[in-house]
Amino acid sequence: MKKIVVAVDGFSSNGKSTMAKSLAKEIGYIYIDSGAMYRAVTLYCIQHNLFRGDELDENKLLSEIKNIEIKFRLNKDTNLPETYLNGENVEAEIRTMEVSSKVSIVSALPFVRQAMVASQQTMGKEKEIVMDGRDIGTVVFPDAELKIFVTAEPEIRAQRRFDELKAKGDNKTTYEEVLENLRMRDHLDQTREESPLKMADDAILLDNSYMTIDEQMQWLIDKFNQIINNQK
Ligand code: C5P
Repeated sequence: MKKIVVAVDGFSSNGKSTMAKSLAKEIGYIYIDSGAMYRAVTLYCIQHNLFRGDELDENKLLSEIKNIEIKFRLNKDTNLPETYLNGENVEAEIRTMEVSSKVSIVSALPFVRQAMVASQQTMGKEKEIVMDGRDIGTVVFPDAELKIFVTAEPEIRAQRRFDELKAKGDNKTTYEEVLENLRMRDHLDQTREESPLKMADDAILLDNSYMTIDEQMQWLIDKFNQIINNQK
């Protein structure tokens, strides 16, 4: 069967990771969460005191970026990939509000993007990969055979993210804070100079505001099968 690259891009907290993960499992592809990589770099900056408030010491990060190693390893119990920063499992730490509130500052830096994109392109060399993010269909894999751009209404995305944080035991963050963070990230991601979030010309738009997870999966598998059947 033809091997392809599936690029899933879109706004923050719209369920694209869940979709991409389930699709990868279903079709036996590797799943890569590119946002986790930007989050891991942000966590590194926090851990190494490169932030003063929202002010980042960019020169220090530039001199240290070569020391930052991000890898994914499969958790054998959940069968899901987890993020490792310099050998340490940081899957939980990179999902906190502190990281979410600073990640757009880090992901806007051209040298950070260059390093992450190079690493992502290496991971996709053999194809059979589903990668989600913001610039996968436009910059990382412009030749990806299947490109999906996911969107949903901001209030619906905020509610989903809020429920997720609560389920993980975060009782401090309010719905309003989540919505505010999401709007801020949408704005920064769309207006940054380096690889802003935008839909690739050849991507298929999916608005999942009123779709169930099962409906989304069926939609996605249909698209995948159409491509595979056309390219046998
Ligand atoms: O997907 P997630 O919300 O975890 O991504 C966290 C942040 O990483 C985004 O808000 C965005 O700033 C950045 N990002 C990016 N390019 C990607 C993936 C994520 O700039 N390909």
